[in-house]
Amino acid sequence: MRVRIGDVVIGDDMPVAIQSMTTTPTSDVEATALQIKRLEAAGVDIVRVAVPDEKSAKAIGEIKKIVGVPIVADVHFDHRLAILAIKSGADKVRINPGNIGAEWKVRELASVAKERGVPIRVGSNSGSLPRDLRGEDRAVALAEAALREVRILEKVGFHDIVISAKSSDPIETIRAYEYIRDRVEYPLHIGVTEAGVYETAVISSSFALGYLLYEGIGDTIRVSIAGDPVREVIAARKLLSALGLRREPRVVACPGCARAVFDVERVARRVEEKLFEVGKPITFSVLGCYVNGIGEGENADAGIAGIDGKRFVAFKRGKIVGTFKMVEMEDVIEDLLKDL
Ligand code: SF4
Repeated sequence: MRVRIGDVVIGDDMPVAIQSMTTTPTSDVEATALQIKRLEAAGVDIVRVAVPDEKSAKAIGEIKKIVGVPIVADVHFDHRLAILAIKSGADKVRINPGNIGAEWKVRELASVAKERGVPIRVGSNSGSLPRDLRGEDRAVALAEAALREVRILEKVGFHDIVISAKSSDPIETIRAYEYIRDRVEYPLHIGVTEAGVYETAVISSSFALGYLLYEGIGDTIRVSIAGDPVREVIAARKLLSALGLRREPRVVACPGCARAVFDVERVARRVEEKLFEVGKPITFSVLGCYVNGIGEGENADAGIAGIDGKRFVAFKRGKIVGTFKMVEMEDVIEDLLKDL
């Protein structure tokens, strides 16, 4: 089943879309648009903004005049805010009908969303499971809580649905999505919630989302990381690239042992920055020494390997193109990238 979010389509065999969420107050149009622009530059496909009040709902219209990616309005409890966000131009809303209250309110929201072709993401979160489901198998409870929300929308005749079921525990997250995949066909937004600070978040998300995507589960992903959301987008891109789901710029760097004749990490990071600037799916290899020849770099499009404290070799598509002085490294890398 496919769902359209602005000009991005997810579901079936469509590419997995990368999502992130802004951290600025949505009512601050300038700051939010600026952050979305940074996310766009990093490669985001869809951006979610929190809509806690009317000012934020109305701001979506203004933000959309400045940015190019589809915007998802994240609303809690108040169906009027969700309707206002849709009328303001939101391309999707994230709300739980179970929190909205009376059925007529859900019906009213669903009818506005349907009229404007705006999908609704519903779902569950391990932090806010309904009371009657707590105590069961937590993964099943998480999945059932999400499906409960789905059924409310289906009851009012709305089927333009995306589902999420996020736990802060990666294994619970995996099991919950597998459970949902076995029961409904709606596209799935996958993610680990409250994943934590950088390293923990990246490891938890890479494991859970990597496992799910490898199984063919997941149509849009968010790698939740506390802090600057641009890092979420970069991590998501790298994850999709590792899974072979996207072709991305890639730096293959050796870990740099005592044989390394230059600072491998510093050079690898610098090359990575350049590759992302260029935006082409180039694989570049950075090797601290020449002990294995260009061995590990043989499959890369290009690369460098240290010889001694003064010299390094540069290679392209498995062939050495020359020996250079260390001081020339920046320029040589630049030239190799230009050639590619
Ligand atoms: S390529 Fe050389 S420097 Fe890098 S890890 Fe291997 S032996 Fe060490």
